[in-house]
Amino acid sequence: MRERVVIVGGGIHGCATAWYLARQGADVHLLEAATVASGASGGFGKRGVRANRRDLREIPLMRAAYDIWPRLAEELGTPTGYERTGGLNLIERETTGTTGGTVAAEAHANVQRNLGIPTEVLDTGRVRELEPDVSADVRAALYCPMDGIADHTATTRGLAEAARRHGATVREGTAVVDAHRDGDRVTSVVTDSGETVDVGGTLLLLNNTGAVPLVREISGAELPVWRVLPQALLLNPGSEGGSPRHLLGHDHRPLALKRLPDGRVMLSGGWRGRWNAEQGRGELLQDSVEGNLGTAAQVFRHLRDARLETADASRAESCSADGIPVVDTVPGTSNVIVGTGWSGHGFAIAPAVAKLLAQWVCTGSRPDHLLPFSYARF
Ligand SMILES: Cc1cc2nc3c(=O)[nH]c(=O)nc-3n(C[C@H](O)[C@H](O)[C@H](O)COP(=O)(O)OP(=O)(O)OC[C@H]3O[C@@H](n4cnc5c(N)ncnc54)[C@H](O)[C@@H]3O)c2cc1C
Repeated sequence: MRERVVIVGGGIHGCATAWYLARQGADVHLLEAATVASGASGGFGKRGVRANRRDLREIPLMRAAYDIWPRLAEELGTPTGYERTGGLNLIERETTGTTGGTVAAEAHANVQRNLGIPTEVLDTGRVRELEPDVSADVRAALYCPMDGIADHTATTRGLAEAARRHGATVREGTAVVDAHRDGDRVTSVVTDSGETVDVGGTLLLLNNTGAVPLVREISGAELPVWRVLPQALLLNPGSEGGSPRHLLGHDHRPLALKRLPDGRVMLSGGWRGRWNAEQGRGELLQDSVEGNLGTAAQVFRHLRDARLETADASRAESCSADGIPVVDTVPGTSNVIVGTGWSGHGFAIAPAVAKLLAQWVCTGSRPDHLLPFSYARF
């Protein structure tokens, strides 16, 4: 297949798809507005590689990603920082809304197991064996031993380098601003410098929040997807210990915790910054920083005294109306595929999504695992 495939966006989705396609001999041009891993796929620390309590429609993708992550570093020839730490979703309440709490734990574990994700419900004693410093309020947990963490920046850059080695062109500092159509096909894209780049085969819009205006430009369609600014904090717990040992999420508190190899702790879990329109970037909200620190200290008391080293809310992420991505042909076109709306959990599944996108481009038919993510569902 030598018709030129153009990919917009040098995050994990764009770089991984470029790598899979280039390995199969495709002529791939990836165009990135800034630098590789300058969006949601970059920044300090690590990201969770988690199946636990993921939307069930994404579980088959995560199951496939479980198989890819452990061998990815060797295949790329560069470290990915992947570690299978195991993941715990901590439970304090009997019921949380309609879907959480101890009453729902066995049902979630059963469904996850049925979908190929090893999952156990841990009682309070077993939770403390795995996480001795967790708050006494935690009474149970859903445990997925195959969950883990990976270095998002290193993985994304490694994928871009590996794609280049297989012959892909990866251009940085090149934003796509427009496209030319001939009937239902996009035949070229236009960059911010006015250059026209031909599209012989498929155009893949994998530029996260930037896909929304490009889809509008190309087809007039309005994706039900918007921008959020997830907050990430880096804590130094000092020598007191009390750090979590696993990837941790929480049943009702907005909290995600992971310990980095150097002992520092990365904190996130649903706290947001805000968009500064004048500067065109995301910025921190002090209330969110304090809220995130306070929540962490409620669950891990020792983290009360941890030193905040870094805080960031500059990396925009796309969220969709039902919390799972849109991966589909752009309406009214026959050769444009968009992937966006990752809703805060697109990193872990990206290698599986990219492999399926490459398969779709090469065969012309959409793989079944991508069917739940159609635009038509809206
Ligand atoms: C703080 C934080 C914590 C997170 N934690 C987790 C986690 O624990 N687990 C998990 O699975 N996921 C997590 N996520 C989500 C995950 O990181 C994202 O879903 C994923 O990285 C999205 O990758 P992407 O390649 O689609 O987008 P991006 O990495 O954002 O890449 C898109 C690229 O497109 C470029 N671009 C935009 N417009 C254009 C244009 N017009 N022309 C050319 N290039 C363009 C941008 O510059 C950018 O580099 C987190 C995200 C954040 C921000």
